[in-house]
Amino acid sequence: MTAFLDIADLSKRFGGLTAVNHVSFSLGRGEVAALLGPNGSGKTTVLNMISGLLPVSGGTITLAGRRLTGLPAHRIAHAGVARTFQLVRVMPSLSVTENILAAILFRTGAPSEREGREEAQALLAEVGLDGRGAEAAASLTYIDQKRMELARALAARPQLLLLDEWLAGLNPSELRIGIDLIARLNARGITILLVEHVMDAVRALCPRSVVMNAGKTLADGATADVLRDPEVVRAYLGA
Ligand code: ADP
Repeated sequence: MTAFLDIADLSKRFGGLTAVNHVSFSLGRGEVAALLGPNGSGKTTVLNMISGLLPVSGGTITLAGRRLTGLPAHRIAHAGVARTFQLVRVMPSLSVTENILAAILFRTGAPSEREGREEAQALLAEVGLDGRGAEAAASLTYIDQKRMELARALAARPQLLLLDEWLAGLNPSELRIGIDLIARLNARGITILLVEHVMDAVRALCPRSVVMNAGKTLADGATADVLRDPEVVRAYLGA
C-alpha cells in the first residue's frame, strides 16, 4: 500500500525532554488506525506535529506526497488535515450553527449566508445534530458537544482526521453511537488516526494500531496482535 500519511523519523524535544524519538509509521489512504500508548508516551505530541500546532525537531511528515513539515497550521488545515482535541473546544456563547459557520468560514473565506447555513445544516445532520442549530453551544450535553466538535472538524473537508480521545467519557450507549459515527466517516473515504484509551472502540474500529512508549514506536501491526504483545502489555502496566 502506498503511504497517504507518511511519518518518517519524527522527533520532538522540549528542552531536555525527548517527547517523540525517531518515530516512523505510515497510513494508507482510507485507513483507520489507532495511535496507542500509556500516558506521556508522546501520542498527542505526534498529533500536534501533524496538524502543525508544534514545529518538529526532526523528521518529515508528508500527506499524499506533499510535505507538511514546516507549514503553518492553517496551511496544513487547508491541505486536508483536521483534528479534534482531548478537551472539547467550542465557542460556548455562540449557537451550534454559528460554531459550524466559523469553521466553514475558515475554509472558504466568505461563503454566502445561505450556502454557509445549508452546509452547516448538512454537517449537523451528518453528526446526528439535525435541527439543533439554533441551540446555544453551551447548553449541549457532553456527547452533543463532541458531535459539534466533529462537525467543526468536518467543515474543513478533511482527507485526514485526527481524533484525540474523542470517545473518552462517553457512556456505553453513547460509545456505540460514537463508534458508528467514526466508522461512517471512514466509509466515506476519510483517513482517520485516533488516539484512544477505550480499547473496545479501538478493537471495533481499527484493524491496525501503532503503539508508542516513552517517545518511541513499540509496536505496529494488526490491533489484535498488538494488544496481545507482551511488551505492549508491560508498557501499559508501567512495568
Ligand atoms: P500522550 O499524548 O501520549 O499522553 P504527550 O504527547 O501529551 O503524551 O506528552 C509526551 C511528553 O511530552 C510528556 O512527558 C509531556 O509532559 C511532554 N510534553 C507534551 N507537551 C509539552 C510541552 N508543550 N512542553 C513541554 N513538555 C511537553
